[in-house]
Amino acid sequence: MNPLIKFPVSHSLPSVEEERILLSIIVPAYNESSVIDQFHSRLTAVLDGMAAPSEIIYINDGSSDDTWRKLQVLPESSSEQVLISLSRNFGKEAAMSAGLEASRGDAVILIDSDLQDPPELIPDMLAQWRGGYDIVNMRRRKRHGENWFKRTSAAAFYRVLNKLSDIHIPENVGDFRLLSRRVVDHINALPERTRYMKGLFAWSGFCQKEILFDRDPRLAGKTKWHTFKLIGLAFEGITSFSVHPLKLATFTGISISLLSLVFAFVLAFKNVAYGVPVAGYTSMTVVMLFLGGIQLLAIGLLGEYVGRIFIESKQRPTYLTMKKITKPAASRLQKAHL
Ligand code: UDP
Ligand code: MG
Repeated sequence: MNPLIKFPVSHSLPSVEEERILLSIIVPAYNESSVIDQFHSRLTAVLDGMAAPSEIIYINDGSSDDTWRKLQVLPESSSEQVLISLSRNFGKEAAMSAGLEASRGDAVILIDSDLQDPPELIPDMLAQWRGGYDIVNMRRRKRHGENWFKRTSAAAFYRVLNKLSDIHIPENVGDFRLLSRRVVDHINALPERTRYMKGLFAWSGFCQKEILFDRDPRLAGKTKWHTFKLIGLAFEGITSFSVHPLKLATFTGISISLLSLVFAFVLAFKNVAYGVPVAGYTSMTVVMLFLGGIQLLAIGLLGEYVGRIFIESKQRPTYLTMKKITKPAASRLQKAHL
């Protein structure tokens, strides 16, 4: 591997004395005790083979198993280790925010700890960054180990989200991606508490590049995403990035009013032509139930947005840190800071 790291024109060069970390790897981990050792050895094997000085930031997202204990005794490598334990389970979006805020690298990579995202692709991502890209999105060619329901619902969600929102959120791109320092700084400076990260990354713009990869099945342990949690995240994604659903209520209201006007004319014509029938119970019930449903839907939609305003107005932090440990890179393996 070429020991000379080339910086793209857009990234500033450091002064020689400055202690620099070129690459930060952010790893959120929630109850990943069964895979964390294997993940660490595969990741460090990749990082040790690279010339770039790096740090690995593990975020223990309030695990209830012994993930935190295992993190503290991980073998040392050529990378600095930063271990952060959140005070409880705040969710992956918050854990990633914690990692982004703690990161110091010029390039930052987010990666899952269950080995679904192969660490061996890191050099390719870095190569794109050196070529001048600010965001390198890893798009899944295949979704191994995911059932039919998850695949179809994910596809439907992206279709709806992209129809409704003004920014394009790439389909089949998870959180595995590289961000340049300036993108990370901008994301960290965003004031919002509801952080739908995939949306925020897409929203930030800059020069983005896509790399296709085959996503492996989870090595061990279980997925933390259940149907209800996924539906919740989907709602968060849509309502954080689009106000179009609010307009939906207005349009439905207008359409129904117009339709009922036509219906009224039909009824009036029938009354004049055939006289007043006693019947009418069925149509009344149908109309009432239909309108009641539409009204509840509209109120529910409003509630989603009011809820977001409520959460934002409280200004609570996205996460709380309980403990932070920094372990230097193994001295025998330390790389020259560039
Ligand atoms: N994760 C987390 N907090 C959570 C849920 C998940 O930090 O509340 C982490 C988890 O440890 C893993 C990554 O997010 O590293 C992806 O989670 P998972 O594999 O369960 O999601 P999937 O790949 O099934 O979408
Ligand atoms: Mg996974």
